[in-house]
Amino acid sequence: MQHKTVKDYIRTIPDFPHEGIMFRDVTTLFADPRGMRLTIDQMLAPYVGMQIDKVVGLEARGFILGGAVAHQLSVGFVPVRKAGKLPGSVISQDYELEYGTATVELHQDAIKAGEKILVVDDLLATGGTAEAGIKLIERLGGDIVSCAFIVDLPELGGRKRLEAMGYDVKTLCD
Ligand code: IMP
Repeated sequence: MQHKTVKDYIRTIPDFPHEGIMFRDVTTLFADPRGMRLTIDQMLAPYVGMQIDKVVGLEARGFILGGAVAHQLSVGFVPVRKAGKLPGSVISQDYELEYGTATVELHQDAIKAGEKILVVDDLLATGGTAEAGIKLIERLGGDIVSCAFIVDLPELGGRKRLEAMGYDVKTLCD
């Protein structure tokens, strides 16, 4: 019998959060002990031995992944959060959603100029969320080493968008 891959543990929920959306639900992957370990091991592998100073996780599933990856790399973890959640002085970045805009924030003192940053989230769709996080990091002088995701939805163009901007993108499945 073949072992399950990361993709095999991900559940698809139709019509969530809106009709017509096929939501890729990674909670089933995270809930499985083998799935969780496989995911973190695969995400981390390309970066072992590279200079990474901090892992930045994008709210909310990027926190779960980013915390585990940062622990394994023995580096610090920094959250990019939705507006109004971080208690200290923040910088903010707006980005476009399908309908309207959203804002993400980063603590002003969370990253120092020249630090090498790995960005982590669960899923790359249009790339708008990741790009907003990247902008925040770069405004503080952080240097983006790579962006790691579990899932890429290639038809939404996020990978092409980030790669066209010169960023390295790594994903575990489409
Ligand atoms: P983007 O900004 O269009 O690339 O969307 C990516 C963001 O939306 C990430 O923070 C994801 O967690 C979230 N997202 C979008 N679609 C899905 C999905 O099908 N499953 C899980 N998260 C999703």
